[in-house]
Amino acid sequence: MHEVSICEVLVRAILEELQRLEVRPQRLRRARVAAGRLRQIVPDNMDMAYRACTAGTAIDGSALELRETPAVATCPACGWRGEIRPPFFRCGACESLEVRVESGMELYLENLELETDDDGDPGLP
Ligand SMILES: [Zn+2]
Repeated sequence: MHEVSICEVLVRAILEELQRLEVRPQRLRRARVAAGRLRQIVPDNMDMAYRACTAGTAIDGSALELRETPAVATCPACGWRGEIRPPFFRCGACESLEVRVESGMELYLENLELETDDDGDPGLP
């Protein structure tokens, strides 16, 4: 289950990001993550891995929201550019297998939703 290693990287990045924020307290409600389709993440496995990786950390109990971004490739032979769907890396026009992958392996934090007080105050010290 490669989702575990992906989650380890993510959790480390989230914790680092929270360290940088000045706002206290830092209770994380939700982390939104964009992941390219070529990473072939299974959402259920990702949820399970996220829970395991965050257990006992400062972000234990937070939720992970995954947004899949498309995989795009271009074809040097005919100039086609479009979405590819793994496991097929094939030009949508001439069916060449020599496509150049442009995106689909991304993995990044889009935003972090922090817990706020009832009055909407972000909890500044
Ligand atoms: Zn082509």
